Amino acid sequence: MDWKDTVFDFLEELIKLPPNDEPGEKAVIRKAADALNIAVVDIVEYASASDEVEGREFSQYVFYDCGKEKGELAITSTNPRVIGGSFTYRAFPVKDTMWTIEDMKAVSAFIHILSLRKGILKIYERLDYLTYHDITFGMHNIVYGERVMRQLINQKCIDNYASVFMNFRNMTEINENLGRDITTGVMQLYCAEFEKIITPPECLWRIGGDNFGALIRKEHVEKFTELIKGVDIRYGDRPRDVVRMSACAGIYMIDTKETTSDALIDHCSQTMLIARYAKRTSFLFYDEETIKLSEHSKSMEAHFEEALGKGEFIAYYQPKVSLATGLLSGAEALCRWKRDDELIPPAAFIPVFERSKRICEIDFAMLKTVCSDLARWKAEGYSIVPVSVNFSRKHLSNCALAQDILSIVKKYDLDPENIIIEFTETTSEQDQKRLKETVENLKKMGFRVSVDDFGIGYSSLSMIRDIHFDELKIDKSFLDTDGENYERKLVLMKHVLGLAEEFNMSTIAEGAETIEQVKLLDKIGCKQVQGYYFDKPMPPELFENRLKKPKYELN
Ligand code: C2E
Ligand code: MG
Ligand code: MG
Repeated sequence: MDWKDTVFDFLEELIKLPPNDEPGEKAVIRKAADALNIAVVDIVEYASASDEVEGREFSQYVFYDCGKEKGELAITSTNPRVIGGSFTYRAFPVKDTMWTIEDMKAVSAFIHILSLRKGILKIYERLDYLTYHDITFGMHNIVYGERVMRQLINQKCIDNYASVFMNFRNMTEINENLGRDITTGVMQLYCAEFEKIITPPECLWRIGGDNFGALIRKEHVEKFTELIKGVDIRYGDRPRDVVRMSACAGIYMIDTKETTSDALIDHCSQTMLIARYAKRTSFLFYDEETIKLSEHSKSMEAHFEEALGKGEFIAYYQPKVSLATGLLSGAEALCRWKRDDELIPPAAFIPVFERSKRICEIDFAMLKTVCSDLARWKAEGYSIVPVSVNFSRKHLSNCALAQDILSIVKKYDLDPENIIIEFTETTSEQDQKRLKETVENLKKMGFRVSVDDFGIGYSSLSMIRDIHFDELKIDKSFLDTDGENYERKLVLMKHVLGLAEEFNMSTIAEGAETIEQVKLLDKIGCKQVQGYYFDKPMPPELFENRLKKPKYELN
């Protein structure tokens, strides 16, 4: 047979083979190799340029062997440009065969074809890997997750599974403490704990950042939630090389065969967002309740611009009372959303708007309302008191915050001393740095700054050590009599109040509802009280009456 015919037939048969048809491939190769009197084909693989052993031979194996003894001379084909390393195919004749020039051309073409085919397969393999993997983490990505979901939906067995959307907690702090590389390693180790529970087609994938998805059999959900609640991850040999990892998750126990991967992801991510703001739980199941909540928050988001434009975010004022004099010493402006006839409390909408940073617009709107009310009262001859305005931590990325606040106050012809800015404690070191700068800037301009809900965070003391607040506002949980720690909380509160005095900070306690609580606060040295015992937050018209009659009876 003419060599061209041999090679042509070989190429045509090879191309027609379906992928992964190993026996078919072997048969086609054997047929051509027999026709060309080839005894053995072997492959020498070299490491890729990125591997440590660059260019060094690192493996050699026989690819085809007809069983006859081979001759010395080999014809070779090298494929140098393939991801994952180069390789050389070598074809050896059956011993004592004398290949003619034409034969040699045929053998050459034969192994060039094999070599090109291997190159293409390697590229496909790599492409497959890149399509379905997250390169940084070396684990599956969302494209893979969605593919598995679609497969299980098509196989009508998706209802045996639960779909999960997770966000790892405290990653900003962990990143700051351990650095990027170790944090990535820690996250991988945490993922590995989840992977231990599951077997394909169950899978875990990285969506991006610290967000992960999973599709797991329902019977594995309980083990999964144990890990979500928290697990210690050891990342080094020293005793202190341990970090507690936990997550927050939305879980959908899939209850229908008729669904789509989009719906699964959407249900879980919405549920996860609700779990994130629920504070007390680390995971939530997608159910009637979460559907309602998620629709509620979507509808709030949708109405935000309109509500802001129409002035639906209004200020209620809650008086602060000086325990030494019984006089009104200030007030806190607390936001309410007046939507149709409904008065929505901040707990229902602030967490929603904190997600999108829209809270910042609300805070500025509140500041403007407060300034406008104060300016009006001042013009009408009332003796005004300083009003506290809450500023979310979401403002901290704004370097010009202090300046922005000042320009609003100036516009209403008021002085910075008429306004107190309240910030809650921060958790991350970076936020704390920014908070320190902002507080310093505000103080330079003449504002007083208060630390709200003091004592519930983990870094309360270092915060008042490093940041010179003017006022310390003790969280209302200190007055809760439930729980075994009440006595200890009182001791703590007493000493914190003493500490604040030495730091020249004024003090105020939130949430006093009874005269006993007020007396107790007075006894342990608290200077002011803001609580239902004196007044609940009230609309501006009623607060005006308080400005007229600023004296409270302290029995
Ligand atoms: P906060 O700043 O710590 O405000 C004090 C909260 O405690 C207010 O709840 C107030 O009504 C409540 N409170 C005061 N005295 C008592 C009491 O004796 N008993 C009880 N049970 N509660 C008392 P409110 O108005 O529901 O506000 C909740 C939180 O929403 C605020 O806590 C604040 O963190 C946030 N918030 C309110 N308005 C704004 C705002 O304009 N901007 C921002 N960023 N957050 C706001
Ligand atoms: Mg406050
Ligand atoms: Mg508070």
